[in-house]
Amino acid sequence: TEVSTRTRELVERRALRLGPNVSTFYEEPLHLVRGEGVWVWDADGNRYLDCYNNVPHVGHCHPRVVEAICRQASMLNTHTRYLHEGMLDYLDRLTATFAPELSTAILTCTGSEANDIAIRMARAVTGQTGIIATNHTYHGNTLAVSQLSRTNPPPGGHWPNVKFVPAPDSYRPLGGEGGQAHALVFAAEVERAIAELKADGFGLSAIILCPFFANEGFPDLPPGWLDPAIEVVRRAGGIVIADEVQPGFGRLGTHMWGHQRMGFVPDVVTLGKPMANGHPVGGVVTRPDAMAAFRKSFRYFNTFGGNPVSAAAAMATLSVLQDEQLMDNAREVGAHARQGLADLALRHPVIGDVRGSGLFFGTELVKSRTTREPATAYTKQVANEMRRRGVIINFLGVHYNTLKIRPPMPFSRADADLLLARLDEVLIELPLDLDA
Ligand code: PMP
Repeated sequence: TEVSTRTRELVERRALRLGPNVSTFYEEPLHLVRGEGVWVWDADGNRYLDCYNNVPHVGHCHPRVVEAICRQASMLNTHTRYLHEGMLDYLDRLTATFAPELSTAILTCTGSEANDIAIRMARAVTGQTGIIATNHTYHGNTLAVSQLSRTNPPPGGHWPNVKFVPAPDSYRPLGGEGGQAHALVFAAEVERAIAELKADGFGLSAIILCPFFANEGFPDLPPGWLDPAIEVVRRAGGIVIADEVQPGFGRLGTHMWGHQRMGFVPDVVTLGKPMANGHPVGGVVTRPDAMAAFRKSFRYFNTFGGNPVSAAAAMATLSVLQDEQLMDNAREVGAHARQGLADLALRHPVIGDVRGSGLFFGTELVKSRTTREPATAYTKQVANEMRRRGVIINFLGVHYNTLKIRPPMPFSRADADLLLARLDEVLIELPLDLDA
């Protein structure tokens, strides 16, 4: 389709005002002007089914969240050095969803800040500076946290206190065998990274990982899979940071948090994106001893983090999530949608693997199921074609050939059926070029 004049104009204004390299999704970027529930509308009045955005967690413009923000904004908003119940009431309710020892918290404005604090906590607790992350992740945009993304190396290279381990891949497991064997190979990689950090004089402060490995392509890993790696880290004196920015807040359908689904208790948990339905709220949850070590080592103050309006937005979001039983919805609708993808796989050999949990799922597209060669160019075409047909999805993973489906939590069976019908059409009509 023709890129409209207005779209081209906005793209040019962005480049002029924001500078080069500011990314947008899609060959024809979307210009969205309105949202409601699982739907968004563009400036020309076209409606799109949102199957991708986790920030509007309880649905775009949920009236209870909108009302909570407006009510508090018209009453008081200020920085966080005065007493106010808003933040404390919210944190009482939030920490109740974690293991009892994870009872203290800090509110921030972004997931990046939360991870930055987590790294400092690990330093305060252990007295060491070495960090381990996977080689295909993203944890945020601060100077320190951006060092954890190997996919986008900073000028001058990475800080030497960061070591990378191969991202788990259940479809092509390191060592060739899945399950427990794969878990032990991963743990051995972590052990190797620890030895390097110690040899280089940094010691081990933490491993940071998303317990669902969302950016890595959400491999299918059974509960307990991380236990061997965690044991290696703890034996070496390090702590475990779980970045729950993507899988948290009930998205996986079975548990409120990704680490609960994997069956372990992290030392530090970081939160973001869906936390206040789009209002900028992130956070760190940890044990009182780790919090005390952090508070003693670093004088930390966050002007906006957990201010009265942010706290009201976060409280309303969590209340809606619980009152509308959206985690149960995620489990039920997610299972239905994955079954639908498995049915599509019977007719479309390009679908190599179907995986995920709750309303965080997708499929790897491959040129051949025998070789499992990623159909990376095709996957991008599919995402763009879905957008042209009014369905927003995207793609990621180690080979960028995994369709990522992660809709707002009120996503219904009928919504899933519409997504599946459109995907079926696209896979029928879009030819796979084996040489691309
Ligand atoms: N952690 C993970 C796993 C993320 O995916 C992101 C954002 N994509 C962040 C942290 C950073 O969050 P923010 O953009 O709010 O700083």
